[in-house]
Amino acid sequence: MLNLLRFFQPENKCAILMYHHVGPVTDENERKYFVSSEIFQQQLKFLKENKFYALKLEELEDAFLYGKKLPENSVLITLDDGWLDNYQYAYSIAKENNIPITIFLSTALIGKDNELLTWDHVREMHGSGIVSFSSHGAHHKRLRDLSDEDVFSELADSKQALEAFFAKPVVSFCYPFGAFDKRVRRLVLNAGYQLDFGTRKGINSWPWKGSRPLLRAHVYNGESLTDYANELTKGRK
Ligand SMILES: [Zn+2]
Repeated sequence: MLNLLRFFQPENKCAILMYHHVGPVTDENERKYFVSSEIFQQQLKFLKENKFYALKLEELEDAFLYGKKLPENSVLITLDDGWLDNYQYAYSIAKENNIPITIFLSTALIGKDNELLTWDHVREMHGSGIVSFSSHGAHHKRLRDLSDEDVFSELADSKQALEAFFAKPVVSFCYPFGAFDKRVRRLVLNAGYQLDFGTRKGINSWPWKGSRPLLRAHVYNGESLTDYANELTKGRK
């Protein structure tokens, strides 16, 4: 039934932006993954001025699970890994602009390093209603390299930790390093995740058929607003 509903909906597009760090560069080797606060602010302003509709993760999940249409020019802002700078910089900018963001957490690493978020940060951001969280595995491992059993515990441990913390089902999974294959993807779906996010570049057609992980548009350090606009609309510069 759900599939039929999806079939009859006019095709739409959904851009999913992929960020990691927001704020000053604290690791030169990872410079590419940092977007400054000023640029992040400009990018969110650009979304508003150009009438993009910034989704909450739950809206995207509902649209997929219940075969709903997405608003025109939908975009989901995602940040991978759960860096502390997401709390220090991205969070306040998102709040100021009233633009929801989604953070993918590697749950076993939360609070384990002073550059990473703690559960207190997660609680506060979640409570604001502007930040959604979902799974990026437990230890940020390259799942393709693990046995079935180890993949499954990465998936299940992380799901359980988040479900216990938020007291709600967790259905979205983001592959660490974007690394997946047929086997890993099957295990992700078997573990109870229903939407999976990769790192392959592109813009998703909506309804998403779920036959491969969701594509994302990459946002990197030093990109112009024109590059950003191209990523957002075409999934490439
Ligand atoms: Zn990651």
